[in-house]
Amino acid sequence: MSDYILETKNLVKEFRGFVAVNNVSLQVERGSIHALIGPNGAGKTTCFNLLTKFLAPTSGKIYFAGKEITREKPAQIARRGIIRSFQISAVFPQLTVLENVRIGLQRATGMSYHFWRSHKVLDRLNDSARALLGQVDLADFADERTVNLPYGRKRALEIATTLAMEPELMLLDEPTQGMGHEDVSRVTQLIKKVSAGRTILMVEHNMNVVSQIADKITVLARGSVLAEGPYQEVSRNAAVMEAYMGT
Ligand code: ADP
Repeated sequence: MSDYILETKNLVKEFRGFVAVNNVSLQVERGSIHALIGPNGAGKTTCFNLLTKFLAPTSGKIYFAGKEITREKPAQIARRGIIRSFQISAVFPQLTVLENVRIGLQRATGMSYHFWRSHKVLDRLNDSARALLGQVDLADFADERTVNLPYGRKRALEIATTLAMEPELMLLDEPTQGMGHEDVSRVTQLIKKVSAGRTILMVEHNMNVVSQIADKITVLARGSVLAEGPYQEVSRNAAVMEAYMGT
């Protein structure tokens, strides 16, 4: 079995001649937390979109657990266990927190809604949903309407609905964006906790978060990999400092 759960080889994405991702070769180690950082416009989102097949690469290859997946469709990618965190907009604000996770579970199993009429099935789904909420410290919010959740808790719910899909590789898109200090540290610890037994690739701007939990960092600038390594190394890299100062 490959040590790398995810690998890209010379990934390129051009938009009408503009090179947004330029020869990016990533190696994400199984079981690690890997951060993708870089100034605005570096190509981080485009990379994520290539990995989930939201976009097709212009050239280059993508491998998951040693198997080439470059030409697979988004649904196939998800079935393999590559799950991108659902954005807040993907949860139903008027439903309760528990109901939203239950829908995530229903999606994950492909179970049709009429099964829910069975009390046994519903009880089982509720138990699983409560267990997931416990994992993200949202058990006390289970019966709250989602619209009433504080922002930081909504992001935790997003992680719970992603966990419902049983990800092997979780892609988190700026999980602490727009949060106050307390929520940032709670979500940072949460990511560390849910990383047990799975791999996380995250785009993250907050260097404090990255320094605390990332095993490896890839720095992108203008579409290319500028530096790679643990935080201690990357943070001392002169080219990285310049790229950040220059924005
Ligand atoms: P980041 O997430 O690091 O801020 P992006 O991946 O969003 O960067 O964007 C990288 C570059 O590609 C930017 O210059 C952006 O304007 C450009 N870009 C992204 N998507 C498109 C698109 N669909 N069409 C044209 N240019 C795009």
